[in-house]
Amino acid sequence: VMDMEDNFQFQGQRRKMIQELKTKGIYDDNVLNAMGLVPRHFFFEPMFRQYAYEDRPFSIGGGQTISQPSTVACQSQLLEVKQRCKVLEIGTGSGYQAAILDKMGAKVYTIERIRELYVKAKALLEVLSPKVKCYFGDGYKGIVSYAPYDRIIVTAAAPSIPEQLFQQLKVGGKMIIPVDDHENKQIMLVVDKVSETEMRTTEHGSFSFVPMLENIKER
Ligand code: SAH
Repeated sequence: VMDMEDNFQFQGQRRKMIQELKTKGIYDDNVLNAMGLVPRHFFFEPMFRQYAYEDRPFSIGGGQTISQPSTVACQSQLLEVKQRCKVLEIGTGSGYQAAILDKMGAKVYTIERIRELYVKAKALLEVLSPKVKCYFGDGYKGIVSYAPYDRIIVTAAAPSIPEQLFQQLKVGGKMIIPVDDHENKQIMLVVDKVSETEMRTTEHGSFSFVPMLENIKER
């Protein structure tokens, strides 16, 4: 049973969040519009909803976190989403990033390895963003049956660029992925697939994500 109420207080906080994102370098109207429309507090437990519009990550159970708004905005902006473009997200978590990409006009496939989070996000997205397709499994393997994708977004820290995900990207497509550096942080990489075997990568700042893990934990 989901308690979904948006009120003036939350709407006001959301407008403030959008202003804050603009001062932090977010200029893509498609991103700002989507984040202004999706009630982020729906992705929080009722008792924590007052924190939903602060620019910080928050615990969502299973030792995982919902990325902070500025990180969601940054990855979404780097993704350069076009209408109806096919996007694969690794790490559904709360489902918030998937809801934003859906609102931006993408056709979203998202995969999560912790069953408890998958079940919860799927139920919420069925109501909020029914076009999003949720899968339970190992994101390192991607989802071969719907490949190739125009875009891939990885929302957990990866040790390197997973080969299988690169293979599932269209030539001309791009992957946004935080890859581990040497200081327990990640560098945000934009990986442009220029041919079946070649990529061009650019770096877009330092971030701190929860690690991407290989084995599926049954809970
Ligand atoms: N995009 C999420 C943030 C998720 S945090 C949101 O908007 O809330 C990263 C998520 O990646 C966690 O839920 C974690 O369980 C998941 N994850 C980690 N390794 C994974 C893997 N190999 N495959 C799929 N999901 C993975």
